Amino acid sequence: MKAQPSRYVIVGPTTFRHPAGHPVRPVLHAATARVYLVDPVTAGRLAGGAPLPEDAERALRAAGLLVGPGVDEPAAVIAAGRRAVADTRERRFVVMPTSWCNMSCSYCGQAHVRGGTGPGHRDLLAARFAAAVDSGRYDTAHVSWFGAEPLAGYAVVRDLSRRFTAAADTAGVGYSAHMVTNGALLDARKIAALHVEDRVGYFEVTLDGPAAAHDASRPLKRGGGSFAHVVDVIGAALAEHGDLRWRIRTNVGVANAHLADEFAATLAAAGLADPRVTLYSAPLHPWGNDVSAAALDRARMADTELAWLAAYARHGLTTWLLPGSPKPVVCVAVTPHAEVVAADGGVYSCTEQPLVPGFADRRVATLATLGGGARPAGEFDDWADALEADETGCRGCRILPLCGGACPKLWREGHVPCPPLKHNVAGRLDLYALSAGCTPL
Ligand code: SF4
Ligand code: SF4
Repeated sequence: MKAQPSRYVIVGPTTFRHPAGHPVRPVLHAATARVYLVDPVTAGRLAGGAPLPEDAERALRAAGLLVGPGVDEPAAVIAAGRRAVADTRERRFVVMPTSWCNMSCSYCGQAHVRGGTGPGHRDLLAARFAAAVDSGRYDTAHVSWFGAEPLAGYAVVRDLSRRFTAAADTAGVGYSAHMVTNGALLDARKIAALHVEDRVGYFEVTLDGPAAAHDASRPLKRGGGSFAHVVDVIGAALAEHGDLRWRIRTNVGVANAHLADEFAATLAAAGLADPRVTLYSAPLHPWGNDVSAAALDRARMADTELAWLAAYARHGLTTWLLPGSPKPVVCVAVTPHAEVVAADGGVYSCTEQPLVPGFADRRVATLATLGGGARPAGEFDDWADALEADETGCRGCRILPLCGGACPKLWREGHVPCPPLKHNVAGRLDLYALSAGCTPL
């Protein structure tokens, strides 16, 4: 029986001239996240055309681009996801050091309350972290500082970081961290402390467009905006810290969809066209709330994302035109080797439950009732079973290896969370070829 193209091969529709002069078409293999620029005859074969000479067929089989008849590729992808969860050597903690945020973003689904962490919280969390790194089960531990706004709990971050890093070092376990922050409270002193002493390797900040759009979408509770401050702080940090990285997310909706070029030009002019700063856009997300009036419909979001990616590239900014690796574990919520610890000591499986009205009671435990060990069972730990049973239709999806099902929580609330990639992969392959110096034929 003849081999056939992998269901995860996606052949770009456009033929380009390669810088070396020959014609090529871009091909994505979603199972491996590899992109190839292949000759049109090979592209035709991978699009379902006639077999090639035996040596060419053998090379395509070796790369996984052709597979034997009857191979159940989705089953292999789902099995790899199960193994990735079971075999992980990394323990992950998502820590919310405060329930307060200094912004009032128009689309936020969280309810913020003032007040620090509860009595004994830090001691209990530090002990739980120490038990994890002492267990011998893990080679590395990663902490995501998350909010509300984590810098509103700066003293808690500093204190816990000191205890976490000391415990990891004593146990001989690698330690890394990142912080998701709105950036308004960042300054040079805090960045130095968090990066150099507390091992925050990258910050992820959200900028919702150029100054006026960002400041309207993400106003400070005390009034005013933060765009200029955040951009200045990142620029200064690039000069100061050679190995500190940044991610800049833009939540794209009706209000800012058209602002890609102005935004990209502004950031480039501010010195952020730097390989340590990666930009991406994301659709407005229903964080437990209704954002349908502000969000773009699926088709428009797919086109808009392409426009934003093209604008980043045009202005020399760094982005991911296509995913760099498969995603066998879709998110922290599907693995007991990760947990989300809220400021009140609640332990959750999913990041979008603490502080979200209607979901805050979904905690799986509290620090006070837990000792060491894996997180107690969470409601999305059955995600591989759900994929296998085709609860969502993901089993038949051509980008399943890259997407993993996007968001179990949204699926089970009745939303379809497919990322724009599902709808604009052809356009992204075109952008990839253009970025490699190819010209359309
Ligand atoms: S289930 Fe969805 S909201 Fe929860 S952590 Fe996973 S991706 Fe995030
Ligand atoms: S969430 Fe959507 S894009 Fe992702 S694997 Fe499922 S069907 Fe595909």
